[in-house]
Amino acid sequence: MASDNKGNLVISIRATESFTEVSLSGVIDESADFAPMVELEGKLRVSLQGVRRFNSVGIREWIDVVRELAQRTQLVFIECPPQVIDQLNMIQGFLGHARVESFFGMMECENCATSEAVLFRTRDIKDNDIAIPEVRCKQCNRVTELDEIEDQYLLFLSEPTKIQSIP
Ligand SMILES: [Zn+2]
Repeated sequence: MASDNKGNLVISIRATESFTEVSLSGVIDESADFAPMVELEGKLRVSLQGVRRFNSVGIREWIDVVRELAQRTQLVFIECPPQVIDQLNMIQGFLGHARVESFFGMMECENCATSEAVLFRTRDIKDNDIAIPEVRCKQCNRVTELDEIEDQYLLFLSEPTKIQSIP
């Protein structure tokens, strides 16, 4: 646990030769300070694996940050957890010009009630006609199922107009 009392969000930044790696963890709410992030330029790969939740103020700030970054960065989101996928499916502007490279799905086994977070690559899902490929249970080897309505969960991979048409 971070003991940083300035906010509930921790942003770590690491530059590599070809891109900048940004890792977010914690809660995105009114205390979130995106200042270290908005000054970045070039190719950004942002891992959202550690993001636990958002509140409505946090989402509004997030949308501003994404819009700001679009002007001078190439933004890629990686390792998006279900709570991020839910937001980007619901909220117009959440993704901005960013591209989702990989995301987690909670795969559940109806046979033995095992659930596991599985990382999927967006490209693989698109190559599979926007469907989750077969994932077998680690315990009993049965085929697992996504614990969300798959079409809704994968909506962000469809045409942007589809997302915007949600009331
Ligand atoms: Zn099982």
